[in-house]
Amino acid sequence: MIEIQEASVTYPNGVHALREINLRVEKGEFVFLVGATGAGKSTLLKLITRELLPTRGKVIVAGRNVAEIPPQEVPYYRRMMGVVFQDFGLLPNKTVWENVAFALRVLGLPRKEIRKRTANAVDLVGLLRRCDSFPAQLSGGEAQRVAIARAIANDPPLLLADEPTGNLDPDTSWDIMQLLSHINIRGTTVLVASHDKYVIDRMRKRVVMLERGAIVSDVPCGVYAHEP
Ligand code: ADP
Repeated sequence: MIEIQEASVTYPNGVHALREINLRVEKGEFVFLVGATGAGKSTLLKLITRELLPTRGKVIVAGRNVAEIPPQEVPYYRRMMGVVFQDFGLLPNKTVWENVAFALRVLGLPRKEIRKRTANAVDLVGLLRRCDSFPAQLSGGEAQRVAIARAIANDPPLLLADEPTGNLDPDTSWDIMQLLSHINIRGTTVLVASHDKYVIDRMRKRVVMLERGAIVSDVPCGVYAHEP
């Protein structure tokens, strides 16, 4: 699903955010990307979303070299991935239902299809009864569930999450990771950047650790604190 070959990213200010990274993520995997703030996790996710191109090396997603995708095709390329952020990113003046449906409307799907997919996604995250609530009426965990519903409503093969539990308490964080795991078991490849040690240690998933822009360990059923 993802193949990163010898990729480096140097920002215009001279910061070397990633240094000759090699990473292969197979279809259907669940991978934690861990490391301290500034280690390069978000930069790596941005290579996959093609917000950034590598300064050197190659990024191949679903068989496509992202550097070769013409700018006008980037929005179509991004349809194959859902993205979830720490701050949920919901539209405050739209209901739960509208926040999810809106993402599908942008794709130009027929109304009936939008209704069906919205209902499925909102149901999957367990929020059907909160359909008419506005983001300000939701708990942090519920708001993140809506963001996840929106990210997967189009059933993309890849789900990326950047610190999805950064604003949540430990129990809620655990529930959100369980939900991401459930989505993974249904067939979606999931890549989660996190430094939520409490949750990562309990999940026993593959853990790729970044330190100052380099991958320093990659363990199949790892914990955050694993020493290489
Ligand atoms: P993480 O997500 O692990 O916290 P980032 O990928 O955000 O790490 O950052 C990696 C390094 O790149 C840090 O030193 C950060 O300060 C730097 N950095 C991130 N974004 C930019 C940018 N737009 N311009 C310059 N430097 C950046």
